[in-house]
Order: sequence, then structure tokens, then C-alpha cells
Amino acid sequence: MTNKSNYEFLLSDLSKLKGVGQKTTSLLKKKKIENIFDLLWKLPKSYTDRSRSTKIKDLKIGENQTITIVPNKYSFPRIRNLPNKVFCLDDTGGIDCIFFNSYEGYVRKILPLGKEITVSGKIGFFKNKYQLTNPKYISEDSSLIKQIHNTYSLTEGISEKIYSKIIKQIIESLPLLDEWHSKDILDKFGNIKWNEAIVELHKPENIESHKKNFYQRLAFDEIFSTFLVNSEIRKKIRKKKKKSKFFDKSKQNKIIKKLEFSLTNDQKKTLEEINKDLSSTNKMFRLLQGDVGSGKTIVSLLAAYNTVNSGFQVAVMAPTEILARQHFNLAKNLFSKRINIELISGKSEYKAKKEILRKINSNEIDIIFGTHAIFQKKVYFKNLGLIIIDEQHKFGVNQRKRLSDKGGNNCDVLLMTATPIPRTLTMTLYGDMDLSIIKEKPKSRKPIKTYSKLESKIDDVIKFIKKEIELGNQIFWVCPLIEESKKLDHSSAVKKFEYLDKLFPNQVSLLHGKTDLDDKEIILDKFLKREFQILVSTTIIEVGIDFPNANVIIIENANKFGLSQLHQLRGRVGRGDKDSTCILMFKSNLSENAKKRINILKESNDGFYISEEDMKIRGFGDILGFKQSGIKNFKLADPVQNSDLFILAEKEIRRIEMNNEDISKFKPLIKLYDRADIINDIA
Ligand code: ADP
Ligand code: MG
Repeated sequence: MTNKSNYEFLLSDLSKLKGVGQKTTSLLKKKKIENIFDLLWKLPKSYTDRSRSTKIKDLKIGENQTITIVPNKYSFPRIRNLPNKVFCLDDTGGIDCIFFNSYEGYVRKILPLGKEITVSGKIGFFKNKYQLTNPKYISEDSSLIKQIHNTYSLTEGISEKIYSKIIKQIIESLPLLDEWHSKDILDKFGNIKWNEAIVELHKPENIESHKKNFYQRLAFDEIFSTFLVNSEIRKKIRKKKKKSKFFDKSKQNKIIKKLEFSLTNDQKKTLEEINKDLSSTNKMFRLLQGDVGSGKTIVSLLAAYNTVNSGFQVAVMAPTEILARQHFNLAKNLFSKRINIELISGKSEYKAKKEILRKINSNEIDIIFGTHAIFQKKVYFKNLGLIIIDEQHKFGVNQRKRLSDKGGNNCDVLLMTATPIPRTLTMTLYGDMDLSIIKEKPKSRKPIKTYSKLESKIDDVIKFIKKEIELGNQIFWVCPLIEESKKLDHSSAVKKFEYLDKLFPNQVSLLHGKTDLDDKEIILDKFLKREFQILVSTTIIEVGIDFPNANVIIIENANKFGLSQLHQLRGRVGRGDKDSTCILMFKSNLSENAKKRINILKESNDGFYISEEDMKIRGFGDILGFKQSGIKNFKLADPVQNSDLFILAEKEIRRIEMNNEDISKFKPLIKLYDRADIINDIA
């Protein structure tokens, strides 16, 4: 039996600790450190990122690095919004430390002139100088840093000393926890216990010990707890019984015959997997994953068709109205008039909308298309059998689970994403679902020719565009965020629009984050109808609309994007049968690293391959903005370095599932790693 009080010590709040008063508690709370475990679990980042000290001349731009420097000169501008700056030196060069939203006094205190300080953070380069923005790990005593690499992140107001003292106190009173892993697993980590491992983690001499048992075990625990929760959700959903769907496959095949193309093998295979789920008495909770342009839409619509033919209703949700309309039109053209298909739009008049809602409720509509937003409101289905959600990569585990609950007793769920991600990430992010993957693209598809160009050579690009327009082709021109601020994003797109509008009068339109939703739809619609030739926009065109006539995409300031995102953007073109081109524009000559990245993109059109490579170069937290998606980052485990642990964890989960093992022994693990909300919901 698990002794509850054992692990509850770790979950107790910080006021239990000696020397931790209200002030410290509230400072820590700001950093989301609420209990003792959070404190213990705070440190590890310093291992991977900040282990080695570098000289300024050897700094690598874009990477997290640690340097020991001497502050040499302050600059505290009196103009609001300009950052405070400290120019610092070592014996090989200089670097600017930049502080946004900071007080002069604070900067003076942490970077005193003439003293040797060790700082760490992501290295940037601006106006021919290295820079470090808001350096996070700062210590006055560089000898301390060199020995004690586990400098805890600088929570303003809490000194290193206090921090270390608190940790020491916790470690001394750590209770022994009952083991949750099987013997086979423990053997792989030299039988080290969790307690021992966490103590090792906080030992200074253990810096750079990724290969040691303690590190591997803790990383494994972290991965395993995520997978276990996923597995529980999957099990729980699968256990739910529903009415199986009976449909006549010859009807489906008639539709397939009507298509202008034949399905790829992967399309056929995934359709079969979905059909099997529809026919079963267990609820479907499936992800259809496939690269941009791999043809997921038709697969999902055929599933919708089969569902209707078995007497159920279907809801299809897309992230934008125009995409919903595109799917709607496709279904209208493809399916017989017998099937009632409607589009519910934000723009529909109140009366019309009400009528649609009534028809949904009385089963007079078979397939309803709309945006996610519309379905968040109250829509009551008479007999919902399938929810299809397109391009959903922004959903987290919790949101998905709620969705499956919401659909009702007989409702299957099919999610689609055009975000190819590495395998280790798929297990992490989508382990709660069954997976269908389309790897193969339609044979007719030609690779998109990809070039890079300096911005100073824009005239060449303009010449190229002129020719394309003469051939009747359309062009996307993407202006990314220049700075993190939305304002600038908007103004750069406006400027580009003005510039292009002079060169191509009446042939250019503009879309940006501030364009109002209705206008946006109208503009995209006009583009689709070829009423103008060049669409200047920020990245809002990223999501799955099919513009068969657009075959050129220009992406400015392309180093602002990750490879996967560039691939995604590039996927807006190359859908028709014409040759298509992607031009990546850069402000200055590319560094070796950037060249390496861009070459991957030039060489390959395979989103899965690109995402693997992207992750190797950038680490997984950054790819495709998973950070913003609310999906938790791993602290110790690294999907690139520890892919063996991910695979081991998956194997162990499958074993536990197969044997139907009791998982209550894992409760402490799950609680510690803060997955309790989900697991409680399951229990
Ligand atoms: P995505 O997987 O990105 O959602 P879509 O479903 O929008 O891709 O398909 C992209 C384009 O490819 C569409 O114009 C579609 O009609 C076409 N398409 C789909 N399947 C095939 C196929 N097997 N052969 C040729 N073209 C196809
Ligand atoms: Mg799509």
C-alpha cells in the first residue's frame, strides 16, 4: 500500500519550511512554485542549457550560453520603452546585456561595474554586436557558478543563498516513497529510488550527468507520467459503448469513383481505419495526421458520408469560415441532394441561424459545417454520430477530452492536423488518441521549388512575380512579426502592400491581424475567385485553405520562422498541377547554422522529415509554437537526446495496458508531476 503521507509532504505548501515567510512564498508563487515538489523540480533546466562557460568570441547566436563577463558601461535611456543596456567585456570581446521593463537600480545591483559576473541566456546579435536580452542566471560569484552550476533561476527578491538553504532543508527531510516502477524498469536505471535521484539532481558535482542513472530515471518518470495519463484517457474513452454504425460501402465507393483523382494508398488505409472505428461499438477518438496537401479533407468527408448513411448526423468544424465554406462546397458537390448539408456562419442572419439550429435539433440536417467558435455555443443535435475537427493542433489534452464527452453517447470524434511532428512528440501530445497517418502525397503533386534571396535583391523577385502574373498565376507575400509586438507586424505588412500596390496597381490586397473578420473572408474569397493577383499578409494564411491557382509564395524575414512553420506556409502553394515556387527572403547573409536549416527545406518536401530535423536543431519546445498551446514542456526529458526513454516509456505503457495492471501505485508519480487534475477526473 502506498503510504499517502509520504508523498503528501512533497505536495504541502511552502509555509511549512523554516525561514520561508510570506514574502518569499508570494515571490515563489509568482513563478508558479506552490509546493515543496515544485521547488525540487525547479532546478534542472540549468543542466541542459547552462552547463558550459563560453568566451564571447566563441558565442553561438541563437543558443543558450553561459559567459563570465565584467560590466563596463551603463546606458539608461530616458525615453520610455527603450531598454536599459549594460555593455560588458571579457578578454575576447564585448556584449550588450539588455533589460526591458527594468529599473535602473535593479540593473545596477545585479550587474555592478567592474565586477566579474556570470550570466546566461539566449545569445542574440544586433548591429554587429552580441547581445543578451534579460539574462536570467546571474551570479556575482563566478567561482560559485563554476562549481555550483545549479544556480536556481533568479526570482527577483530571493537570493541564491536563501534558495540553496531551502533546498537543503527539503532534501534533509525527504520521506522515502514507495516504488512505483516495475523491477525491469528499475534495473535499467541501476535501481535508483526516486528520492535518491532527486537528491542527486541537486548535487553540484552532478552537472552534465545526463547519462547517469539518477538523471535517466527522473527523465523517464517525467515522460512516463505524461504517457500514463494519456493512456488512461484513451482507455476511458474506448470503454464507452456506443451504437455501432452500419453503412453500405458501395455507396462510399460510388463517391470515390466520382472524384477526379484516385485515392492514395494512405488515404485508403486511413479511411479503412476510421470506418472500422465507426462500425465498432467503442467510441472513436482518432487523430488523422498528414502533411499539408496530403488530402485529409476527402478522407474525413467520406467518413461523414458513411456516418450519415448509417442514420446519424455529422458536425464538421474548421478554424476559419472560409475553410468551413470550402469543405461545405466540396460536400455539396460530391454528395447526393438527398443528404441535407448546411453551413452555419457567423454572418448568417439571426433568423436563418435560428432556423438552422432548429433543423439540427429536429434531425432535418445531416451534415453541418461551421467554425469552432460556432460550436462552442449551444447547438443541440438530435442524433450526432461524428464530430470532425480540422486543423486542431492548438487543442490540449483536456480540451479534446471534453469534446469527446460533449458529443453525446453515440458520437465518434475525428481530429485532423497538418502538423507533422516527430514521433516522440506525437506520443507525448496525442497519446490519448488512436492515430491514422497519411505519409504519402498524391502522385500528381510536384515538389515546390524553394530558393533563398537577400532582401536587397528584391528587384529580382519583382521581375519573377511579373512573369508569373502574366502567366495568370497568383502570389502570396508573407510578412512575419518583425518584433514580438503586433503593432510592428501590422505596419510591416502595410508598408509592403503600399510598395507592391505602386508596382502592381489594382492587383494587390492586404490582410493582417487587424483586418476585421468579415473583411478577411471577403478578401480571401476574392483571391480565390482570382479578382486580384497578390495577397500580402501576415501569417494568418497558414491554416488549410486550398488556393489551387496560387503557385508562388514569398516569405519575408524567413529566419523568424521555424522550419516546420516555413514548410506549413509553403504548403499554401503547390496544390494545383502547375510548377510552384517558394522564395525565402533574408535581411542579411545567413549564418552556417541557418544555411543548414534552409537546406533541409530546399531538399525536402516531407513535413515529417523536416520536423525531425527542425527539432534536432532547435529543441522541441520551440517547434510550431507548442509553448503557446498550453501543452507542458518537459523539464528534464528531451525528445531528441532521450528518444530511447520515450520509446521505453511507450513500451512500458503498452505492457501495463495489455496486462490490465492496476495503476493506483502510480498515483504519487502522477500527483507529483501535476497531472492530478486529469487523473482525478478519470478515477
Ligand atoms: P490537407 O491534407 O492539407 O487538408 P486537402 O484535403 O485540402 O489537403 O487536399 C489538397 C488538395 O489535394 C485538394 O485540392 C484535393 O482535392 C487534392 N487531393 C486530395 N487527394 C488527392 C489525390 N489522391 N490525388 C490528387 N489530388 C488529391
Ligand atoms: Mg486541410
